[in-house]
Amino acid sequence: MGKVVLGVSVGVAVAALVVGRRVKSRKKWNRVVGVLKELEESCETTVGRLRQVVDAMAVEMHAGLASEGGSKLKMLLTFVDNLPSGSEKGIFYALDLGGTNFRVLRVELGGQRSDLDPDVEQQPIPEQLMTGRSEDLFDFIASSLYRFVEKGNDSVQSPVTKELGFTFSFPVKQTSVSSGVLIKWTKAFAINDMVGKEVAGALQQALTRKGLNMRVAVLQVNDTVGTIALGRYHDEDTVAAVIIGTGTNACYWERTDAIIKCQGLVTTSGSMVVNMEWGNFWSSHLPRTSYDIELDAESPNPNDQGFEKMISGMYLGDIVRRVILRMSEESDIFGPVSFRLYMPFALRTPVMAAMHEDDSPELMEVARILKDVLDIPDIPLKARKLVVKICDVVTRRAARLAAAGIVGILKKIGRDGSGGITGGRSRSDVKMRRTAVAVEGSLYTQYTMFREYLHEALNEILGEDIARHVVINVTEDGSGTGASLLAASHSSSGTVDNIQLV
Ligand code: ADP
Ligand code: MG
Repeated sequence: MGKVVLGVSVGVAVAALVVGRRVKSRKKWNRVVGVLKELEESCETTVGRLRQVVDAMAVEMHAGLASEGGSKLKMLLTFVDNLPSGSEKGIFYALDLGGTNFRVLRVELGGQRSDLDPDVEQQPIPEQLMTGRSEDLFDFIASSLYRFVEKGNDSVQSPVTKELGFTFSFPVKQTSVSSGVLIKWTKAFAINDMVGKEVAGALQQALTRKGLNMRVAVLQVNDTVGTIALGRYHDEDTVAAVIIGTGTNACYWERTDAIIKCQGLVTTSGSMVVNMEWGNFWSSHLPRTSYDIELDAESPNPNDQGFEKMISGMYLGDIVRRVILRMSEESDIFGPVSFRLYMPFALRTPVMAAMHEDDSPELMEVARILKDVLDIPDIPLKARKLVVKICDVVTRRAARLAAAGIVGILKKIGRDGSGGITGGRSRSDVKMRRTAVAVEGSLYTQYTMFREYLHEALNEILGEDIARHVVINVTEDGSGTGASLLAASHSSSGTVDNIQLV
């Protein structure tokens, strides 16, 4: 009897234990699902909200053009008032300096939007030149350029001045299309005697010392400008360029009379490329999560580049890492919390994208990455599905916000079919012109889901009737080939450099 009683009570105890475990694990699972739900809600980008972002972007652009410091958008003048038409002819050069390597390029243009097939040479800058004297750096660059010209089918002794586009990706205060003053060095460079000096002039002097008959026609301090040049070269309806890679930025073609902060700006074209520095855009309408707030607070530039931190390749993977970490802390569905989850940037965006785009039924790529990259082995399929969902939410938000930013630009210049920033006319009254936007950067070109979400959002925001007239063109290498096209459109044999401040 006693035995039986014991048996029964043990059986009851075991059953109670199993039920208890199930309830516990369901509770944990519910907690994780709760984290996901909360993420989804705070990342919500309904069309209504995206339209608010569109309006905020257009308003901020206006404010940034009205006065210096009038907006988080700097809206910088580039002095580029002439974009290539496609009819350019001749040989043009570019020099791209922005990191440890530099590139020299040559393009031969045959008119009629001929294909671009640049000759390119890349080489590292010797380390000692990065921290030495500016003369030595520029002499080294001039010598490399000299050899490059010599090696090609172009003559170094030619009496005809060659035109050069110089991409210099450092903080520069631009003073004309072909001049600018270095504010500070970044990355591995520290050449003190150069700070506060005019950059293109320093290169020009080195070219002259070397006996190279070449003119620095354009100083390009931001690669978006080369991207819009490339875009316009291939497609005359190009009005803006957007880069979505490690970081994000945009520029566009603006009427000079709209650049209110620079009264009396006169250009022959009546327009100028404005570098928005849109990575720093901010609006209370942006859907922000606790993960964004933490990422920003722990970044080296808190309160800066808020838009970029939601959109670009530098950050997306890290947002996803933070969500997985939160889930892992809330429950044990990912096993014990992996120390890798605490490491900033342990999950890079391309790796995150690979999980997102894993289309195997068992999500084996997700399993592999979780194990190899984040040291989270053997988690059940439903947890792997959850990870894919996190990637989806974060990337979808990024792509949709980028689309809203693009429509914001179109709205500012009256190309969104709504009659511009002041509104008034109804959509049906406005005849929409074909409008092209040049896009560069791996997020758009390499990440299919990102690209598709961006297109989908453009359609939703603009409506299909208007969106039909908006074309996105992929462009490559604004900082190199783009700079050589700018040298062509600003060459002395073509137009005169005639921007005046009166
Ligand atoms: P950069 O912006 O540095 O000039 P890219 O335009 O190639 O160069 O962008 C690089 C960034 O794009 C990387 O930081 C990375 O986060 C992201 N990236 C690269 N490949 C992919 C990919 N396949 N999927 C998603 N993101 C990617
Ligand atoms: Mg780039």
